[in-house]
Amino acid sequence: MKDFLLSTQDGQFRSDARDFLQRELGPRAAAIEDREEWGEVKAVIKALGEGGYLKLMFQDLYQGSLSAPGLTHAVILSEEAAALSYAFETTIATATSCAYPLHRYAQPEVRDQYLAGIVNGSEIGAICVTEQNVGSDSAGMQTTIVFDSATNEWVINGFKRYISNASVADTYIVYGISNPDVAPQKGMSAIVVPKGTKGIRFPRTYNFMGRRGCIVGEVEFTNCRVPANHLLGQVNEGFKIMLSMFNFERVILGGSGLGVARSAFEIARRHAQQRVSFGQKLGCKQLIWNSISEMSWRIDAAELITYRAAKLYDSGHLSPKELMKPASMAKLCSTEAATFCADATVQILGGDGLTKQFGRAEQIYRDARALTIVGGTTEMVKYLIASVDLPEIKINL
Ligand SMILES: Cc1cc2nc3c(=O)[nH]c(=O)nc-3n(C[C@H](O)[C@H](O)[C@H](O)COP(=O)(O)OP(=O)(O)OC[C@H]3O[C@@H](n4cnc5c(N)ncnc54)[C@H](O)[C@@H]3O)c2cc1C
Repeated sequence: MKDFLLSTQDGQFRSDARDFLQRELGPRAAAIEDREEWGEVKAVIKALGEGGYLKLMFQDLYQGSLSAPGLTHAVILSEEAAALSYAFETTIATATSCAYPLHRYAQPEVRDQYLAGIVNGSEIGAICVTEQNVGSDSAGMQTTIVFDSATNEWVINGFKRYISNASVADTYIVYGISNPDVAPQKGMSAIVVPKGTKGIRFPRTYNFMGRRGCIVGEVEFTNCRVPANHLLGQVNEGFKIMLSMFNFERVILGGSGLGVARSAFEIARRHAQQRVSFGQKLGCKQLIWNSISEMSWRIDAAELITYRAAKLYDSGHLSPKELMKPASMAKLCSTEAATFCADATVQILGGDGLTKQFGRAEQIYRDARALTIVGGTTEMVKYLIASVDLPEIKINL
């Protein structure tokens, strides 16, 4: 099954990445979960950067096209990392999702300044879309990005929330309205704001049920000024940049969901083959093997759909619009598989599934819950899929 879409080279990459992560992340995963030690997250990011794992699709930092099989390998890396610690993996996913628009849309000197640090693991990136009144409906954002011709600077004002890596990132990609007189799709821009810029504040860090060790918080911009060249792409091109970034991020989230689903499934599989109940192995019982096969087919389907999207992306033939459906399906299928498997595993383990003393099932259950919400909720990606399937209908949001 695994050879159907992935090449020998991909398989070798998986094996290298798995060994690397087991060595660098494995021993630190408990400190990230139990004590939320950001220093441990940063140490693994640095090791990954130095090992060349974050540079996958940005081999030549200064050329326009991404190098293949970049996204396929980025997804493999995310899958393998999420299988050990989904909280940690969110930092890689945010880093690559931040690197992508920098690589593709930043002016060369800005790319030079901010991208290199992210892909060599010495710096961290963050993406700022979500606001107080704007989550799924990202076009309704109220943050403003206004050009001051007197100083040749962009001025950013707004309040973003639920931002992964808020306060610990070195580089923030911020989306805001640059022309309020037209539809947001035509009046949004994207801009790079470095840490330390006057006027940037981090009012609050959230306390989540899962993903412990991954920092998520608020970012406030009050008259933040950055030089003119910090704009990504052209003025008012932000919505297009955001959509292509979301496609990219959703394929990576396919890998995250797959890793989480697989880690839950392995625990359930082991337990079903060892635990004796009513004089027989638990796995002999029809209700239990039904649950195992329900997990198994969901994982295989998610794997096929996710790597199909990655391979389509790496082929370089699809426009962002054409990639939207396969990317949305990868996100939907894998993240739903993850929440299903996390829940079914806790059930199969019984009491052992609810306690930290008997392994990671309870952690995976808490972590998995975020997957169907981040990077476009299940409802929103279903809408995107249907909007391609029903081109003659304006779907009511
Ligand atoms: C852990 C975590 C990390 C995050 N990291 C980032 C980040 O780094 N950067 C960033 O910008 N954002 C980030 N987010 C924000 C995330 O993208 C949003 O939470 C998500 O897009 C949903 O927005 P919302 O929470 O405002 O929910 P809402 O948009 O208010 O939606 C609430 C519910 O209503 C449903 N819904 C909304 N509209 C409709 C409709 N028309 N039809 C049917 N159902 C609908 C949604 O699907 C959802 O189930 C993060 C969130 C979390 C939880």
